[in-house]
Amino acid sequence: MPLLKTMIQTLTAGFSEVLSPRHCIVCEESVSDDDRKFEFICDRCFNSIPYAESPDILLNNILENYSGDELCINNAYALLRLKDNDDWMRLIYGLKYRGYSRIGYEFGKELGRIIQSYGHPEYAGIVPIPVHKARLRERGFNQSLYIAQGVSEILSVPVADDIIERAVYTQTQTVLSAEERKINVEGAFRMTAPNSVVEGKIYLIVDDVITTGSKMNS
Ligand SMILES: [Zn+2]
Repeated sequence: MPLLKTMIQTLTAGFSEVLSPRHCIVCEESVSDDDRKFEFICDRCFNSIPYAESPDILLNNILENYSGDELCINNAYALLRLKDNDDWMRLIYGLKYRGYSRIGYEFGKELGRIIQSYGHPEYAGIVPIPVHKARLRERGFNQSLYIAQGVSEILSVPVADDIIERAVYTQTQTVLSAEERKINVEGAFRMTAPNSVVEGKIYLIVDDVITTGSKMNS
């Protein structure tokens, strides 16, 4: 009865999260009940958040993978700068595969504050990168939507999750080179809103991870 087993495991995990002290999602040490900004992160990790570079530097980094007028992105903002084997990647995995909606929302708010502090154009909407319907069924959530909701709260700009959809079920990008990533996401997204709605407007696109910028650009 594998299904029942999975259900029991899920229930047990749910109960233990309520009954036992929480653990820091980054270093996995237990977290006390102090009033902190992010409740799933211990003080030590909180004080060493690896903040990303300024938007100018981020955009320059992305530009290195593109030639001429290939790049359609005007600005880039990020909250964290992470390496592959970084402990902080646990936060990304938690968000992506375990659906830590609260963390996505809180970090989205923090990202929103950063965007606000650098100044930004007037956005018509905040667009979470959509996941394919099949993947949505499999996971039950879109992690980028949680982040977008946090950003939306701070910038007072509505979430626009009905502008684009995922047309193709793409393979995961983690093992691909910059050039392979571009090909992998070619035609991956399709407009669902009519041109008359989006024409002449500026949208802020939100994703959980940006590596070479190929998904954003697509
Ligand atoms: Zn920690």
